[in-house]
Amino acid sequence: MREQHATRTDEQASIDHLQRDVLEAVALGRPLTAVMDLLCRGVEALAPEVLCSVLSVSPEGVVHPLAAPSLPASYSAALEGLQVGPEVGSCGTAAWRREAVEVTDIAQDPLWRNFRELALSHGLAACWSTPILTGHDQVVATFALYYREPRGAAPFHRQMVQACAQLCQIAFMHDRHQREIERLAYFDGVTGLPNRTLLGDRARQTLLLATRAEAPVSLLLLDIDRFKTVNDSLGHAVGDQVLQHIAARLLRVLRDSDTLARIGGDEFVVLLPGCIAEDAMHVAAKLRAALEAPIPLDGSHARVQLTASIGVCAFPKDGTDLDQLLKNADIAMYEAKRAGRDCARFFLHAMNQALDERLDIEAALRHALSNQLLQLHYQPKVRVADRRLVGVEALLRWHDAARGWVPPDRFIPVAEESGLINALDAWVLEHGCAQLARWRAADVDVPALSVNVSPQRFHQDDVAAHARAVLARHGLAAQDLTLEVTERLMLDDTSRPREQLQQLNEMGVGVSVDDFGTGYSSLSYLKRLPVTELKLDKSFVRDLEQDADDRALSSAVIGIGRSLGLTVVAEGVETEGQREILLGMGCEAAQGWLFGRPMAADALAAWIAERARDA
Ligand code: C2E
Ligand code: CA
Ligand code: CA
Repeated sequence: MREQHATRTDEQASIDHLQRDVLEAVALGRPLTAVMDLLCRGVEALAPEVLCSVLSVSPEGVVHPLAAPSLPASYSAALEGLQVGPEVGSCGTAAWRREAVEVTDIAQDPLWRNFRELALSHGLAACWSTPILTGHDQVVATFALYYREPRGAAPFHRQMVQACAQLCQIAFMHDRHQREIERLAYFDGVTGLPNRTLLGDRARQTLLLATRAEAPVSLLLLDIDRFKTVNDSLGHAVGDQVLQHIAARLLRVLRDSDTLARIGGDEFVVLLPGCIAEDAMHVAAKLRAALEAPIPLDGSHARVQLTASIGVCAFPKDGTDLDQLLKNADIAMYEAKRAGRDCARFFLHAMNQALDERLDIEAALRHALSNQLLQLHYQPKVRVADRRLVGVEALLRWHDAARGWVPPDRFIPVAEESGLINALDAWVLEHGCAQLARWRAADVDVPALSVNVSPQRFHQDDVAAHARAVLARHGLAAQDLTLEVTERLMLDDTSRPREQLQQLNEMGVGVSVDDFGTGYSSLSYLKRLPVTELKLDKSFVRDLEQDADDRALSSAVIGIGRSLGLTVVAEGVETEGQREILLGMGCEAAQGWLFGRPMAADALAAWIAERARDA
């Protein structure tokens, strides 16, 4: 009795020891197969009469041998890929039933009917298998003891299996968490594609190999055009769904050795090892073609049609590390956007210079805006018939210490691209109105003010509310102000700009269509939108005296404008001949050097005073 007790204590101590070893291996992050191998060897060392085996079981019920150090390799190999079921040996059945299955004689037991020969030929006579369940009550593995003769398990074996089942459970759950953490750290949650971190790892390896082998690598940066509209109008859930479709389509075009990663909202990167830039251009064409067919949306008949802009650059010419390559691919992609989107562009070093220049201008312009280095000049708008002043247009002037006078045509596009335009246009509105109030206070008779507003501002700012506040601040009436916008805005069918135009109209602020005739020349919007003025573009006015077509067009525009009750203003009138033709066509107002150049506020006051004296 005493001896029996002592033995049991020894046995428990040896199991405790095994347990500690295995838990330590788990804690050290050893791979699951290594931990299971350690466990099996430990058990077999304590009980040389058993052969130990661990099989993993996939969620679909497919079996995969993980560790079985003493079972013949050919036996384990035969189990690979087996589907668990009600009569699939001890392990397959245990996983199926979710309970331990103890077969004391494989030769007789019906559960082994289909595997009897396999087991007996490898000298296996009995098998006791225990399923391993995780916290989610899912069978993830089986832990089995085999015997070389028909027999049941000894009490010590039962003690061991109980401990081992627990260890297996801990090891499997740890492994699952580990993999989940890796997935989160390296893969994008929406598309399942590698994320930026994994792209970084892959790029490092790829570029290292390419350097050694002097092999080419290309990198593509693909940005979905106007994807923001999808998210904004259909919601993020649908947006995610669309991204998944896109990822699947792009993957189909690529080879296994390529890496497709998602590095931002709608930005994908493709790393193409062994691919020269020309071939990358070909891949870019295939990627764009893959997006051509409209993407169906779950649970609706709606579909979205998307295009992509792609920037392409090559290692090592355009960069020797991922950051540099991404930066230059981004510049090329940006160039593709500028070229009208839905196309691909190579990175060229000239692009870099153009970008540098844009960035320089942007920085200088920011500085100018916050240090009051911008000015407004005002150009008279006069009645064609008697040259009476009817208003002035505020035009931005920028004198930069290094660059001299920078014309608006150079810095306005930069401001529009960088988003600075909103602040700029807000500044112009504020200062233009302040100046109008000052003229009024000084009895300088300036009837009205026109201010240019970039279409972007109508999307981002509350232009109407801002105008109302500025007018109130300077004691001006809504009728004193006209906002000039280009046709681009009129053709924009999104609701926000349209609501704002409507509000401006209800307030009594004028809305003028600038550069009329250069855009889409679609007149239908003029009827729908609350427009008060048309500005006939100076390109029509320039050749009025020589070109019959321009005369016909101008005359038509003036006629349509008048029939809709709009004021038509001719721009860029430089000669008396042009003025007479416009007068004959019934054009009401005009601007141009013939009447007055854009001038500083004081100069304009002097100009008005001089004309009053002459009259
Ligand atoms: P725009 O609104 O069409 O302005 C008229 C342009 O024609 C001005 O050029 C003006 O100086 C020029 N001009 C006036 N009379 C004549 C003439 O008889 N002959 C010729 N050849 N040109 C004449 P500017 O000041 O260089 O402005 C260019 C463009 O920059 C403007 O075209 C406008 O689109 C933009 N811009 C200027 N100021 C602002 C602003 O405050 N905000 C925004 N968003 N854009 C502005
Ligand atoms: Ca204008
Ligand atoms: Ca214009």
